[in-house]
Amino acid sequence: MIEKELKEIWKELPEGCRLVAISKYHPVEAIQEAYDAGQRIFGENHVQELVEKEAILPKDIQWHLTGHLQTNKVKYIAPFVSLIHAVDTLKLLKEIDKQAKKADRVIDCLLELHIAQEETKWGFSEEELMQMLEEGEWKELQNVHICGLMMMASFTDDTAQIRSEFRLAKHIYDEVKIKYFPHDSYFCELSMGMSHDYTIAIEEGATLVRVGTKIFGERVY
Ligand SMILES: *Cc1c(COP(=O)(O)O)cnc(C)c1O
Repeated sequence: MIEKELKEIWKELPEGCRLVAISKYHPVEAIQEAYDAGQRIFGENHVQELVEKEAILPKDIQWHLTGHLQTNKVKYIAPFVSLIHAVDTLKLLKEIDKQAKKADRVIDCLLELHIAQEETKWGFSEEELMQMLEEGEWKELQNVHICGLMMMASFTDDTAQIRSEFRLAKHIYDEVKIKYFPHDSYFCELSMGMSHDYTIAIEEGATLVRVGTKIFGERVY
């Protein structure tokens, strides 16, 4: 079942687009099953859950933190996390830099862009993002790489709305790339698309799609 779903998604991925299997709330057995089928990138939303699973599961898994991250929890994942998707303040980026230094690493991060209609979602507005990048303090951080942007589309059935949000995210990504990272090959990721909208995200230029339910089934909270 998990293997069948994975194979279906892998087939749909164009060159340069990778699947992050979102395994939050699913047991390690399900992750192991996906691993055995060949999946290597997994995403979790909660630090404690991520730390517990990382300790048990194969060491060559690339663990992404995809959920909102509190600054006081960065230290627990700094030694091993492969990509932090939802960096939404300069303060958080600085803390990741500090903890990465302690762990003697450079940690890859994405800046979270807020485009969706919902008030409750985290992230930088386009204006806030551009202002933060323009101010330039991030350039002093030696132990983080800003590798791209992440976003979540509005929770709606209106696929035209979803598509226009992905398209705007790609537009902002291109602008940021040209303006601030033209010579940094690591700035190359646009993380967008979930179970219900990842095929649209792929069409609009996603390089990382974050799919949970379609692979693992409904989450039991
Ligand atoms: C849960 C989650 C996903 C996966 O959602 P599904 O609908 O289960 O595919 C993707 N991205 C983020 C940030 C999430 O929190």
